[in-house]
Amino acid sequence: MRPFTSTIPFTDALKIALDATQPVTRTEHIPITAADGRVAAHDVLSPLEVPPFDRAAMDGYAVRAADVQPGATLTCIGHVFTGEVFSGELRAGECIEIATGAPMPAGADAVVMVEETEPAGANAVRFKAAAKEKQNIGRRGADIGLGMNVVSTGDVLTPSRIGALAATGHRSVEVLARPTVAVLSTGNEVIEPGQPLPPGHIYDVNRYTLESIVRQHGGVARALPPCGDTLDDLLNALDAASSSDLIVFSGGSSVGDRDLARDAIALRGQMLFHGIAVKPGKPTAFAQLTSGVNFLGMPGNPTSCLSNAYILLIPILRKLAGLPAWEPRTLVVPLAKKITSSSDRHQFYTVRIVNGEAHPAFKGSGDITSMAHADGYMEIPASTPSIEAGTMVQVTLF
Ligand code: AMP
Ligand code: MG
Repeated sequence: MRPFTSTIPFTDALKIALDATQPVTRTEHIPITAADGRVAAHDVLSPLEVPPFDRAAMDGYAVRAADVQPGATLTCIGHVFTGEVFSGELRAGECIEIATGAPMPAGADAVVMVEETEPAGANAVRFKAAAKEKQNIGRRGADIGLGMNVVSTGDVLTPSRIGALAATGHRSVEVLARPTVAVLSTGNEVIEPGQPLPPGHIYDVNRYTLESIVRQHGGVARALPPCGDTLDDLLNALDAASSSDLIVFSGGSSVGDRDLARDAIALRGQMLFHGIAVKPGKPTAFAQLTSGVNFLGMPGNPTSCLSNAYILLIPILRKLAGLPAWEPRTLVVPLAKKITSSSDRHQFYTVRIVNGEAHPAFKGSGDITSMAHADGYMEIPASTPSIEAGTMVQVTLF
């Protein structure tokens, strides 16, 4: 055994990891139909005005506003529907029936909605109220001007921004590439689900929880097969993963004789921290490899691993992907039962929300149901002896 001689506070660990992480610079052109949640690599300027022409904002009549007084009757000389352009010109005493979205006919300077008119015999329309110049007209370029930024560098492409790209005629957009993240579970006992479980073995949990986190926060997970607890296996796995933007291993990062991640790192790069003062999740390591890739070594215990994925991997990943920091939802609710779970480490303690109260859900670091049967976690500062039932606690939802 080689016990941890020191740990660093979580906030220091996060800062070290984020300072060592730079957003990917690779870009790719993708169809706007595939751009949801992606990050714009450049400003996109509009090559046209939107709308591209003055248009009616209401169904009604295109008029010269000066002609329209209460009781005025105008001669209707035709109609213009969407997708058409009226060929003639409107003169004094005339109006043209117009549909919402149709181009304004030459000579017209206002639209009167149909509800403010009434028929006055063949080809004549009576107006109930006065009209003002420019009323009910959508001005050319009012939405988007020529050369205006449709999206800006770093914008996350939401449905509305994808709509703005479409409005300006863009079928594709250049976005940051999704960072690739090698995900690998270490441990002689770890078996991929879907095959019989030999005695003394367990199914791999961490690969799947980590892959899911990676996918949800802008990365592309590249799973490698589980790796045995030998230095050679670990070095081979590190080398196989070195073309990724980030390497995330789980297991083998603790203090047992077969926890060899630190030895593998010593041969392939430089450890920036090993051991953080959180519970669960102390045996966590972060290193820079000589290949230029960052390495995150997560604990093997599934809840420790996933808990640290929420607090450490997600921020790293989002910075790598050029995404804004994650802002999880939080609730402030009363604690349903007293917690006496004092630790000298800052705790991320899982709870389930039932009837507006936080019920303790943490079983053990090795139990995935500590999280799978929880809705979120509350934080308990180091050396807090207990928290009484009824105390209002802030819960961060998963
Ligand atoms: P380690 O961090 O390698 O010492 O592992 C700590 C505990 O987590 C041990 O009980 C392991 O069997 C278990 N463990 C390690 N890796 C995984 C994994 N990928 N899935 C599920 N349990 C694991
Ligand atoms: Mg292990």
